[in-house]
Amino acid sequence: MNFGRKLTNCRMCDSTDLYEFLDLGFLPPADRILNDERMNEPEIHFPLKVAQCQNCGLTQLTYVVAPEILYGEAYSYESSITETGKKHFFDMADSILEKFALKNNDLIIDIGSNVGILLEGFKRKGLRVLGIDPAPKIAEIANKREIETWNGFIDKNISELIVNKKGRAKIITATNVFAHIDDKQGLIESIKILLEEDGIFIIEVPYLADLIDNLEYDTIYLDHLEYLSLKPLIKFFEKHGFEIFDVEKYSIHGNSIRIFISRKNFMNISENVYKLLELEEKKGIYDKNNLDEFARKVCVHKKEFLELVYELKKQGKKIVGISAPAKGNTLLNYCKIHNHHIDYMTEKSKIKLGYYTPGMHIPIIEEENLLRDNADYGIIFAWNFADEIIKNPINQEFLRRGGKFIKPIPKPIIMETNIENLRKNDISINKEHIEIKEFKDIKEIRNNSGFTESDNYIEIKKDIEKTENLFGVKLKKIDPIFIDNRGIITDLLNEPIKNVGLITTEKNAIRASHYHKKSWQYSYILQGKFEVLIAPYDQPINVKKIVINPGELITIPPLVIHQFKAIEKAIMINMESESRAEQGYEDDTIRVKIYDKSELNL
Ligand SMILES: [Zn+2]
Repeated sequence: MNFGRKLTNCRMCDSTDLYEFLDLGFLPPADRILNDERMNEPEIHFPLKVAQCQNCGLTQLTYVVAPEILYGEAYSYESSITETGKKHFFDMADSILEKFALKNNDLIIDIGSNVGILLEGFKRKGLRVLGIDPAPKIAEIANKREIETWNGFIDKNISELIVNKKGRAKIITATNVFAHIDDKQGLIESIKILLEEDGIFIIEVPYLADLIDNLEYDTIYLDHLEYLSLKPLIKFFEKHGFEIFDVEKYSIHGNSIRIFISRKNFMNISENVYKLLELEEKKGIYDKNNLDEFARKVCVHKKEFLELVYELKKQGKKIVGISAPAKGNTLLNYCKIHNHHIDYMTEKSKIKLGYYTPGMHIPIIEEENLLRDNADYGIIFAWNFADEIIKNPINQEFLRRGGKFIKPIPKPIIMETNIENLRKNDISINKEHIEIKEFKDIKEIRNNSGFTESDNYIEIKKDIEKTENLFGVKLKKIDPIFIDNRGIITDLLNEPIKNVGLITTEKNAIRASHYHKKSWQYSYILQGKFEVLIAPYDQPINVKKIVINPGELITIPPLVIHQFKAIEKAIMINMESESRAEQGYEDDTIRVKIYDKSELNL
């Protein structure tokens, strides 16, 4: 079996003068998640070391794993998962369309097109699109989404086939994939075949200067053969008859640069190119001392991150991972954080569920699980999407219950809700509600022994006998029993009732969000409409939505969470089998956050 090769010469200029400055140890491929079967087989690890070419400045891994190992069946990166990611690609398509005059029939090719989000951005504007992706599962998803995608590695053969069938491309894009391609010579030959004379090749790659500045060392993994900057790329493209004529900076996977390339002397070279080159020199990203300093900081980070995890385990805390991106595996494997430190990782991407992370073998499970047990800390491995991840309703509820997040990069910090602020303003948890703490703060709290466990209503619920009939909620239109000139008589109910209330509710106001241990509740709507969310008491995310109208009676048995939202100003008669007047009501009523399924994207 071909595992790969040790790099002896610079991939771009062929120099043998490579300065190795960072060694992250032996790691498994970051996207190679394991199923139960593969968990019983040997798992291969590769050296993960980074060197910089002293001739052209290209920063690159010193070992190149065979692409068949990296992008075979087990490859699992699905790019469209986050809203931030989707928006980024749609914006990218729009901005390219704005920048260059394209005609409707022009062909756009995306290399490493994944599930086709960027191409979708072009397609919806009427352009012809074609994706090329080496991962069979991913290409299949793309084709199902009606983004034509050929499964394969980019090379001369596939390029000639494309030109025969589709013609040449006006724009070729490669986002977060250029640095994955070992055979750059072959890539350039393919681009020459595929690209129209006046066509433009656009690559987007994470930017080395930002990686160094923000200590984003977790973005170093075996798939990423290079950590790109402008200087080596300019030389490289020049050698092959191309020219970088513009560059833009974007913030997505950490921070990225978007580079625009044409055949030589086709375009005017933008100021941006010279400015960024100057900045690279000023920052000293080609200076050996700075590279050594970066490597030292990486070591310090590992120590701090491990200390935090160990401290929390000493305190008996339960730690889980929020999101399971490839980069998380660099962090886990380099820091040696195992499945006895982290119970599981939650993940939105369906294709990863039921698998284990490479190397550290942490199970990857559905994000709903976060609310089913009592995790104390959630490490956000996709820290570049932290803002979005925190807005996710499940994570909101985790915070509300006293759960804390850890953002590991560039310095591990703890994010927790300031409960005091929250009670006054109970809508959603945002930045103002979150307090940032560091390792030292966590330690102090323990030593002062002022630390109390957050209230946890899952514990309370354990006492209650579980009802087999999960919902049992009934909705009934009540027909009048007698109508004449004097008016209407309607029988609402024939059940033992200890309390009757008349309740008005303003439009959009929310009531209840609780369940009763014993009391049955019957609500008859006189006026207005309610949207009612119901769920079993022990499954607050197993939610159903009912709309109730005037003249309808909803019967809610004990142990069913209910939440009423008035769609319009409403009046109802509320009847309960237990008395509200006594102390018993509060004891009987357990407040629970319930979810609207649409919020959850289930
Ligand atoms: Zn070089």
